[in-house]
Amino acid sequence: MKEQDLRRAIVSQCRQMNASGLNQGTSGNISARHEDVMLITPSATPYDSMTPADIAVMPLDRDDGSWSGPLKPSTEWPFHLAIMRARVDVGAIVHTHSTFATVLSMARRDIPACHYMIAAFGGPTIRCADYATYGTKALSDHALAALEGRNGCLLANHGQIAVGASLDKAMWLAAELETIARQYYHSLLIGGPVLLPDDEIERVRQGFSSYGLRDR
Ligand code: 13P
Ligand code: ZN
Repeated sequence: MKEQDLRRAIVSQCRQMNASGLNQGTSGNISARHEDVMLITPSATPYDSMTPADIAVMPLDRDDGSWSGPLKPSTEWPFHLAIMRARVDVGAIVHTHSTFATVLSMARRDIPACHYMIAAFGGPTIRCADYATYGTKALSDHALAALEGRNGCLLANHGQIAVGASLDKAMWLAAELETIARQYYHSLLIGGPVLLPDDEIERVRQGFSSYGLRDR
């Protein structure tokens, strides 16, 4: 994808993320890899007025916070950059404060294998990363650890992160993560789920390589 198209796609996904109820206000942020840079939403900018030119650029070969653009990058640039640098499979990152993911993160609960769709996240759990203040290196370290072998995690008392090879895939997973969180929450209200065994999740995970949203 050309850089200009990717900038447009980021703005469009930000607006959809709020319109669909997956996020609210200026919470949340989105990044995408483009060649040797990371494109990332500007901090505290309403999505309705954000334009493609407002997206900030950060070089992937530096971790000192260097950026260019008319507006400063999201305060969460440390975890976006750390994930992009550590995970060559990741082309885009979506962070939201979606309600049910956040509710579970407040209770500091990992999501267990309560539904087979958890396999889309790479394994039998979606972990909840330890708490640290937003925008810090500590939060970035906790998020990276929780994402080990996974495409999504909860952030304690904060929200969720979903990662994917493409922006479409990361956004799809952010919506799936919120759906599983909602389903798990409701199952807890009626006594809790019967969990699927690890070997079943592994079978489903392998099947997913030929199912669902394809990488472009
Ligand atoms: P930004 O507006 O700086 O991206 O912050 C929103 C957020 O979700 C912080 O965790
Ligand atoms: Zn946040």
